[in-house]
Amino acid sequence: MVKVPDTATPTPSFDYAPAPESRAIVDIAPSYGLFVDGQFVDGQGRAFKTINPATEEVLAEIAEASAADVDLAVRAARRAHTRVWSRMAGRERAKYLYRIARIVQERGRELAVLESIDNGKPIRESRDVDVPALAAHFFYYAGWADKLDHAGLGPDPRSLGVAGQVIPWNFPLMMLAWKIAPALAAGNTVVLKPAETTPLTALLFAEICQQADLPAGVVNIVTGAGATGRALVAHPDVDKIAFTGSTDVGKQIARTVAGTSKTVTLELGGKAANIVFDDAPLDQAVEGVVNGIFFNQGHVCCAGSRLLVQESVAEEVLARLKRRMATLRVGDPLDKNTDVGAINSAEQLAKIRQLSDIGEAEGAGRWSPPCDLPATGFWFPPTVFTGVTQAHRIAREEVFGPVLSVLTFRTPAEAVEKANNTPYGLSAGVWTEKGSRILWMANQLRAGTVWANTFNKFDASAPFGGYKESGYGREGGREGLLAYLKGASA
Ligand code: NAD
Repeated sequence: MVKVPDTATPTPSFDYAPAPESRAIVDIAPSYGLFVDGQFVDGQGRAFKTINPATEEVLAEIAEASAADVDLAVRAARRAHTRVWSRMAGRERAKYLYRIARIVQERGRELAVLESIDNGKPIRESRDVDVPALAAHFFYYAGWADKLDHAGLGPDPRSLGVAGQVIPWNFPLMMLAWKIAPALAAGNTVVLKPAETTPLTALLFAEICQQADLPAGVVNIVTGAGATGRALVAHPDVDKIAFTGSTDVGKQIARTVAGTSKTVTLELGGKAANIVFDDAPLDQAVEGVVNGIFFNQGHVCCAGSRLLVQESVAEEVLARLKRRMATLRVGDPLDKNTDVGAINSAEQLAKIRQLSDIGEAEGAGRWSPPCDLPATGFWFPPTVFTGVTQAHRIAREEVFGPVLSVLTFRTPAEAVEKANNTPYGLSAGVWTEKGSRILWMANQLRAGTVWANTFNKFDASAPFGGYKESGYGREGGREGLLAYLKGASA
């Protein structure tokens, strides 16, 4: 149990003049159809609305793809695979990927503004993280497209065929890149379903595919919710399913494809431990803890949502953490000063509130810095819970919001035991001066990624994925390519 010293009262924050990014660069149509066989077409199903979570303004009506629409998209993808894309020389496919990457860079500001409007994330992040990562993945995998036969991937690596890809709302463009870039580089065609609350940037990406003259049917985008995703996963002519989302839906998908010839990668939830030892540079560690849980409002599968801090420095770390949290600016996602934007949806806000209330009811100490939240839209203040035990639900369940649970430990062995005491295994962070301890911890931690003295660092060349209920398969790097090839070996 940690007592927080009274000295932890926030220092006064700086005043910043508003610095909003103009949204004039994006042109949002009143309604959108599906992107099938290189064209925008009307869906045969109903339509739904996508809103700006920071203002609750309706942005556009979006077609909800029916099973018949999904079938048309899969057929288009199959034709494109058989007739064009799988036959094309790798060096020619690479040219399309490079072209897409360059157009993404040219239209980067437009993509970033639209991502922030539809998702609620700060423009600083969509501009500096999401869009550069989108371009980087296309550049990176473009470089692989002509080397498949010469890179030790086996005697005859070939594409799988049609990939059905389903992605969540927290990183719409980045997740799209993780899925589409390796699939195309390996010669597959795709049908991708974005999340229902964030369809707009995937549709702008479809426009970019047109602009790049990508052959019709190589990329198809079907918008909709769970039913559309289910139809795609169950479609008999899809060869591979790539899913990123919740563990519950991941389990349903695993059941649906069991016994079929489809291959599957599942990137699911997480409950990462960010572990701070007493010899760590504390200010840097606090910065990493803040980045670990408040980046993207905590809507991050690998978020450092459990801070494990060595007991001897726990009070000091908490005092510094609270001072730092008091300087976070929460508000307009389009303001370049904003650190924490809007929660993506009313449903997600309700879930964060419910789990936080449960944390309080179960006896954990709740603290948020004073911050004025806008009157409309979906907002939740950066929040820290102290005195958390492993039995608390906020220590076990994924909150997927800006909520940090603090636990303490005395020895490295206890830190490992607590960090691994979760059904998930996606990521972890270790903060210590001691190199040998970093290596020992990295070997002990059951997590797909272990960051040392940093957190939330990604690179297109680095594989990412989980253990246990965080899923299976890897995305990114050479491993991410193997997931889209048959006859290939690691
Ligand atoms: P979700 O599982 O509810 O939805 C994800 C996607 O699946 C959406 O496009 C949704 O429409 C679709 N979907 C819903 N039901 C479906 C079904 N039965 N069949 C097929 N598709 C279906 O998850 P979410 O709330 O959008 O995203 C948050 C979750 O995603 C969190 O658990 C988070 O940890 C996880 N996530 C994981 C990673 C990773 O790389 N491991 C990355 C980002 C997010």
